[in-house]
Amino acid sequence: MNHILAINEQLPIRPELSPAYDPWDPIVSLQRYGRHTLTSVEMTVSNLCNMRCEHCAVGDTLVLAEPAKIPLDQMLRRLDEVEHLETISITGGEPSFSESTVRNYMVPLLRYARSRGIRSQINSNVTLDYKRYEQMAPYLDVMHISFNYTTADDFHQVGFARSGHSVSRDTAVRLYERMMDNARRLSEAGVLVSAESMINYRTHHKIAEIHQLIIEMGCQRHEVHPMYPSSFAANLPMLSREEMRAAIERLLDARDKSVWMLFGTLPFFRCSSNPEERALLARLAAEPNVTVRNDPDGRNRLNVNMFTGDVFVTDFSDVPAFGNVKNDRLDDVFDRWLDGSLARSIDCHCPAAGCCGPNLLVKDMYYRGENFLSRQAILD
Ligand code: SF4
Repeated sequence: MNHILAINEQLPIRPELSPAYDPWDPIVSLQRYGRHTLTSVEMTVSNLCNMRCEHCAVGDTLVLAEPAKIPLDQMLRRLDEVEHLETISITGGEPSFSESTVRNYMVPLLRYARSRGIRSQINSNVTLDYKRYEQMAPYLDVMHISFNYTTADDFHQVGFARSGHSVSRDTAVRLYERMMDNARRLSEAGVLVSAESMINYRTHHKIAEIHQLIIEMGCQRHEVHPMYPSSFAANLPMLSREEMRAAIERLLDARDKSVWMLFGTLPFFRCSSNPEERALLARLAAEPNVTVRNDPDGRNRLNVNMFTGDVFVTDFSDVPAFGNVKNDRLDDVFDRWLDGSLARSIDCHCPAAGCCGPNLLVKDMYYRGENFLSRQAILD
C-alpha cells in the first residue's frame, strides 16, 4: 500500500457505519482474526484548546504553545505498514485549534484514510469557525463532539472551569451557539455527527434532557460513557455503579428510538453476580438502535503522540509509552503491548456475550483486585 494513492482512484467498497457495523469495536477484529489485532490508530495532533472543561481527560497535557510535530510522511509510512488498518481517529486538545495543523496534517490524514477505504473520526469541540471544519468534511466519516449541557450557562460553567481566568458569559454563549450550528451544518454536509455525553455527578439526573438537545442539533448518534477519574476529572465526585445503572435506565426510557445510541466503557459485564446489572445488559442488547462498544484502547487501537512519536495504549492513561514511530512498526508495538502483563491482566473474552473485558480505567475504578480471567459470562 502506498500513501501517495490519489483520492480519485477507485475506492474500496465500505459498509455504512451503523449499529450493525462499528469497526471501532474490537470485538469485530477479534471475531475476524481470532486474536486482538491492530485495526485502529489514534493520533494526538494538538495539545492546544480554546476550552478548559472541568472533566477533561487530557487536561494536564494542555499547553498554550506547542513544539513541532513529527513529519507527516513518517506517520503515513507507519500507517501504510499496519496490515489490517480499518479506522483512524484524530484527537487533541482541540485538534483543529491551529489552521496549519488542519491544512498540513488533518486534511492529508483524512484524504489518506479515504484513499485506503479506512474510516475516520475527529474528536473536536466544534466551537471554532465553520471554515476550519468545512475543509475536512468531504473526507471525514465521524465528527465526534462532547455534549453535556442543557443550557448555555451549563456550558459556560463546565467548559471553562479550568481556564485559570474568567471567561465572560457572552463569549461562552457565542461558542455554545456556534457549536450547535456547526454540528447541524456538518450533518447536512454528510458527516456522521456523534455527540458524546458523559454520565457524571452533574449529568446523571438530566441525561434524558441532554439527549433531547442532541437530537434537536441533528446528531445521528448519541454516545454515552461514564466519566472516569482521569486528569482534570481525577478529583470530581464519582458515581456508584447503582447511580450509573439508574441513569442509563432513565435514558433508555426517554430516548428517541430512531437515533443510534452507542454506550461505551460501561462498568457492567455479563459475569456480574448482580442480576440488575445483567438485566440492564440484556435490555441494552434487545433495544433497537442501541449498541454497547467494547473499549478499543489496547484491544484494537494504539495512540500516537504526533509531537514525540511515542506510542501509547490510550491518550489518557498513566501507562508509559512502549514504542516510538521513529523506530518501531505499529504492528510490532501492538504485539509487544499484548504480550505484557498489564494487557494480559484484563484479557478475558466471553464470545457468547460479545464481551472482551474491561478497560484499565474501569477495572481500576470499580473492580480493583478483581481477577477477570477467572470470571465467566452468566447468560440468563
Ligand atoms: S469477557 Fe470478561 S468482563 Fe466480559 S463477561 Fe467475560 S469475564 Fe466478564
